[in-house]
Amino acid sequence: MKNISVIGAGTMGNGIAHVFAMKGYAVSLVDISETALEKALATISKNLDRMIAKEKISEGDKTSALNNITTYTDTKKGVANADLVVEAATENIELKLKIFKNLDEAAPEKAILATNTSSISITKIAAVTSRPEKVIGMHFMNPVPVMKLVEVIRGYATTDEVTKITMDLSKDLGKIPVEVNDYPGFVANRILMPMINEAIYTLYENVAGVEEIDTVMKLGMAHPMGPLQLADFIGLDVCLSILNVLYNGFGNPKYAPCPLLVNMVTAGKKGRKSGEGFYSYGHGTKDWIVAENFKK
Ligand code: NAD
Repeated sequence: MKNISVIGAGTMGNGIAHVFAMKGYAVSLVDISETALEKALATISKNLDRMIAKEKISEGDKTSALNNITTYTDTKKGVANADLVVEAATENIELKLKIFKNLDEAAPEKAILATNTSSISITKIAAVTSRPEKVIGMHFMNPVPVMKLVEVIRGYATTDEVTKITMDLSKDLGKIPVEVNDYPGFVANRILMPMINEAIYTLYENVAGVEEIDTVMKLGMAHPMGPLQLADFIGLDVCLSILNVLYNGFGNPKYAPCPLLVNMVTAGKKGRKSGEGFYSYGHGTKDWIVAENFKK
């Protein structure tokens, strides 16, 4: 494994490119948006500066990491020499199926095609390619340079060999991979999202307020962040879409998204990225206050 192509240069794509480039891999970072690519390089540079300030890496390490990254807006060119492609484009099933059809045609036959999807079936994505045995989930956590876990998801047809290569590669990045099977939500979101949904139901049924719910979970369960705030950070639209994947995938009403979550997303309150969710943001970089709707 030498040449890694990363498709999508957003929140996750830039982090994935960052960790591969730091380990000396040649990274082709692909996005349809030139602006997204410029922003990604600026973010990677800023994050590397932070590591220099903490004396974790040298200026030289930063220069070589940045030199290891080439950007492309043309997917065909960006994957022409790939040993591994990690797709981290927008979470939308039609888009991912289209991207994987194209990757299957454009990437070398030997290349492994991985996806960083949070919830879409690996087996479904693999089925649109002519190499389902080489398609796998490589689910990094946000922020990628910091978080240790990679959830490695085997699709129905993924081989032992491809799984082993992906596990070994994750270890080489300094991550801790965990192998799981391809069922809705995999492990991480199957457990996390019902907890977040239950926290929203607890608020909806007026059992307690936003800060009270988050404080109980932070101080009582030693969670670094309360579930409502975590939902805001993940994006309420993303939480809703993952809950729908669980609900539709298992056909079990226990996964039905709370009506309050549905209302908030419909009203455009998507959490931190939109400026408001359970909390209201933009009062300073690290400052947030309970959103107007939930003030007592
Ligand atoms: P994002 O919206 O920040 O970035 C997506 C990028 O994909 C954008 O820059 C967009 O221009 C690009 N894109 C769209 N169509 C493309 C195409 N055809 N070819 C190339 N690039 C294309 O999204 P994100 O938060 O980085 O999420 C990416 C993936 O990672 C999703 O599958 C998501 O579920 C998953 N994920 C996200 C998180 C998270 O916390 N944000 C965590 C784990 C996994």
